[in-house]
Amino acid sequence: MNKERIEKAVAVAKEAHEGQFRKTGEPYIVHPLAVKKILEEWGMDEDTIIAGILHDTVEDTGLTLDDIRRDFGESVAFLVDGVTKLSTARNGMRDIDTYLPATKDNFLRLMIALGADIRVLIIKLADRLHNLRTLSALPPDKQKKIAKESLEVFAPLADRLNMGLLRVEMADLSFKYVDPKRYAELKELIEKYNKSAEKSLQKIEEEVSKALKKEKIKFKISGRVKSVYSLHKKLAKHNQNINEIYDLTALRVIVDDITDCYLVLGIIHSLYTPMNGRIKDYIAMPKQNGYQSLHTTVITKDKRVVEFQIRTKEMHEYAERGLAASFYYNEQKLTENYKKGKIEHLPTNLLWISELQMTAARLREGKKVDLRKLKINLFADKIFVYTPKGDIIDLPKGALPLDFAYKLHSEIGDHVVGVKINGKMSNLNKKLEQGDIVEILTSKNQTPKQSWLGKIFTSHARSKLLHYLNRENREHHSPEPNPKNPHKSHKV
Ligand code: MN
Repeated sequence: MNKERIEKAVAVAKEAHEGQFRKTGEPYIVHPLAVKKILEEWGMDEDTIIAGILHDTVEDTGLTLDDIRRDFGESVAFLVDGVTKLSTARNGMRDIDTYLPATKDNFLRLMIALGADIRVLIIKLADRLHNLRTLSALPPDKQKKIAKESLEVFAPLADRLNMGLLRVEMADLSFKYVDPKRYAELKELIEKYNKSAEKSLQKIEEEVSKALKKEKIKFKISGRVKSVYSLHKKLAKHNQNINEIYDLTALRVIVDDITDCYLVLGIIHSLYTPMNGRIKDYIAMPKQNGYQSLHTTVITKDKRVVEFQIRTKEMHEYAERGLAASFYYNEQKLTENYKKGKIEHLPTNLLWISELQMTAARLREGKKVDLRKLKINLFADKIFVYTPKGDIIDLPKGALPLDFAYKLHSEIGDHVVGVKINGKMSNLNKKLEQGDIVEILTSKNQTPKQSWLGKIFTSHARSKLLHYLNRENREHHSPEPNPKNPHKSHKV
């Protein structure tokens, strides 16, 4: 690491941002310096750290890409350009058109633009993390908007890159703004639970430690606290039944090698009764994002349900830092192999990144690429659609226009009279597709209809609709048809 080069970047950024202030009232330079620190903690390489320091200069100050290229070289300039393009892209996806062929799928385009160098995405994630940490300085409507987008786009992205620490922090920071009441409720619940479990957990830790020492296994054991947002999501899956959440308490055992992982699993099962169907071997079968670990849920002598996560140091490092860690270790090899046209330098589960990088490189060289061949299942179960203003809304595959409308706001959902998809009038039975631009037409005279139940896919929209219909039933005994609907010709 060349300290002088980094200090020079700090000096350049300081001068460029001179006189600018953040919403918190602090000098603007506080932000790029915080991004620098985050990237350093993630173990990123020198060029990435320098680009992180300069990431807002081209967009917000008089500094040009040529200045950066002259002072810090092509690689840094390329990264800064990528981050700048990314924010432009997010404000309506304009710039990307200049070097990407037309495709309807804005999200794919965005990913390809990024994929040119995945470090662009890592800088963007660091940038977003600091903005979330300082979100309290923004007005409430902006807070909600940024938090929602982080929860729906950036935290899942961190998860797909197996950056566990980042995912948890981003999700919890965002969730606090998206649903403050629920956040406070669940946080209290977790704290109470942990407190009540503290003593018996300590005993379990001692029992396990004793048994492992007896077998001469080198290990580290510690408790892991469940994040608020992941508990929220799990509860939603289990009909809010907290008794079905088996990993509220978890202990993590970190060992030296894979053989020891399985030994530890055996020892734990000899101490406590494993729960049926709760043993997961993510070592033999890693998760899609490359996560590896053994999981087992056991019932202790005093009837406590505890999850154990057993993994090697490397697996643990990778689970917490993910792509950043892997990038750090593979950087040299990555550059070499990339020049040779090889793409097998990343864990199999992250091969899509290589694929993305190769594709982007080919596009930049002006070569033809069939984007349909690119299989990026970054968000396999999701689609991303856009409001006419370019805001990204994520929905499950199979979602319909009413799901989109209710996701925006129940005020919008309740008054839908029609929908335009990609600028054309469409109907409420039309499944939304990745990249669609969806415009909802409303009328304040419109009210929800019983028949809408057949035109809804998500449980969120269904519950909003049922909420309205039930209330209506109680008040009028039968839902009334809307006599004067000026938009009837739209065939709602
Ligand atoms: Mn920034």
